[in-house]
Amino acid sequence: MRYSGFRVFAQGLAGNRGWRAAWRQPDPKPEYDILIIGGGGHGLSTAYYLARNHGLKNIAVLEKSWLGGGNIGRNTTIVRANYFLPGNSEFYSHSLKLWEGLERELNYNVMHSQRGLINLFHSDGQRDAFARRGNAMLAQGDDAVLLDREGVRARLPYLDFEQTRFPIYGGLLHPRGGSARHDAVAWGYARGADRRGVDLIQNCEVTGIDIENGRVTGVQTSRGAIRAKQVAMVAAGRSGQVAAMAGMRLPIESHVLQAFVTEGLKPVIDHVISFGMGHFYISQSDKGGLVFGGDLDFYASYAARGNLPMVEHVMEAGMTLMPMIGRAKVLRSWGGIMDMSPDGSPIIDKTHIDGLFVNCGWNYGGFKAVPASGWCLAHLMATGAPHPVAAGFRLDRFRTGRGLMDEEGTGSQHNLH
Ligand SMILES: Cc1cc2nc3c(=O)[nH]c(=O)nc-3n(C[C@H](O)[C@H](O)[C@H](O)COP(=O)(O)OP(=O)(O)OC[C@H]3O[C@@H](n4cnc5c(N)ncnc54)[C@H](O)[C@@H]3O)c2cc1C
Repeated sequence: MRYSGFRVFAQGLAGNRGWRAAWRQPDPKPEYDILIIGGGGHGLSTAYYLARNHGLKNIAVLEKSWLGGGNIGRNTTIVRANYFLPGNSEFYSHSLKLWEGLERELNYNVMHSQRGLINLFHSDGQRDAFARRGNAMLAQGDDAVLLDREGVRARLPYLDFEQTRFPIYGGLLHPRGGSARHDAVAWGYARGADRRGVDLIQNCEVTGIDIENGRVTGVQTSRGAIRAKQVAMVAAGRSGQVAAMAGMRLPIESHVLQAFVTEGLKPVIDHVISFGMGHFYISQSDKGGLVFGGDLDFYASYAARGNLPMVEHVMEAGMTLMPMIGRAKVLRSWGGIMDMSPDGSPIIDKTHIDGLFVNCGWNYGGFKAVPASGWCLAHLMATGAPHPVAAGFRLDRFRTGRGLMDEEGTGSQHNLH
């Protein structure tokens, strides 16, 4: 069923009784060509592009809970292409271009809004670093505008520019940055994959990975064994646990990241604002809630909820940046399990086991990567060769040093970037 304005109108006249389920609920078959472990954004987009770009049909996505219940439905929805280093910048640039056509591609309103992202800076040295980043973004073919203090004030007049610890010197504006409705992205890819024949199997936890003579042959699940020629581990925060089923130890630590939303307010914040020095960022959702967050909780955990010290830290940072935020009532907070890599860059690669692939290490930035990640993993699985924009995302780079993209420059500390 295609969605359109006419369809909404016609359904309205018919009492909305003619809508069909957006995807089927199939039982798992005993065998597929390809299994994707994890029905988050990356797993669903991989299945979609395997079918869409490579014409592959006999695919299943195995999700232990419900589609969109993981980080894809827990993030703060920022979409941007403002990376600095070669290896990352071309990948995120590719992803942003896919975002820009995503609604038409999926025939689904993912509410992608290019409202502009502003990263604030607070010293001359930081201005230089942001100017350099902006130039790298321009050289990549993306957009960036260096704003002085008055340029920021014209756009964000409600900020406290004179705060004593971090007075605002200016900001780097990324006009094509913005946000999207996160769970609509999961639903849109799920619907698109289902329409192309992919089986989306919910409540199906993978409990083991079958390997014979160095080759993957299938998986064990809570709904029985399923055989497959290729298996991709796309489990985000649970990547370490899933890879352990194949006897692998990934260079990933799982950490909690929290987020917060206030009651719905009239439009007040037009942009996405990032206050890196305070570990705080904020935007306003289309429902009116102020959506904001900060840093990791600083301890490794598989709990999808955080602790009070980080709540206090984030609230303090918000009040420092924009004291008016103190008038808003926080409605909800939640946490997600982040798959933190040592260098802040992801992994899309084959493993040493034939037919077994891994996609992980998205840190706190994997939402904006969903289109390109699926595109590139599908390319790797279908052709056997890495996609050029993801060629550096190798699993062995921590051993060989090849393709190392230490985007944040923090060294091998999973939780310090
Ligand atoms: C609070 C917060 C804010 C964030 N903000 C942003 C942001 O603004 N911008 C941005 O780009 N990124 C952001 N992120 C990061 C982004 O959400 C993640 O990097 C991305 O969603 C991870 O990929 P995914 O969608 O595939 O993960 P998930 O949705 O977590 O998918 C993984 C799936 O695997 C399933 N799974 C795990 N183990 C098994 C198993 N054994 N068997 C079957 N299924 C299994 C899980 O149930 C889950 O559904 C944020 C994350 C959080 C938590």
